[in-house]
Amino acid sequence: MFAPMTFLVTVGMILAVFTAVTILMRAFGESKSTTRGGRTASRPTCPRCRQRNRRAANYCARCGKKMPAQRKR
Ligand SMILES: [Zn+2]
Repeated sequence: MFAPMTFLVTVGMILAVFTAVTILMRAFGESKSTTRGGRTASRPTCPRCRQRNRRAANYCARCGKKMPAQRKR
């Protein structure tokens, strides 16, 4: 009688924690991506290796390819 209850409670707690962590991670990742979303659009992506570089970068930080000229707002 005692063991099944403990098992159920343990499983329930694990599931609750897992769900909470998943939701938190998802929310954090989304907020992170949305926060960077505006910047990501303006950040140049290397045409060769797709490395995202800083806006001011003239050359790719990974492969050294010259980045295409960017329009400044
Ligand atoms: Zn590159």
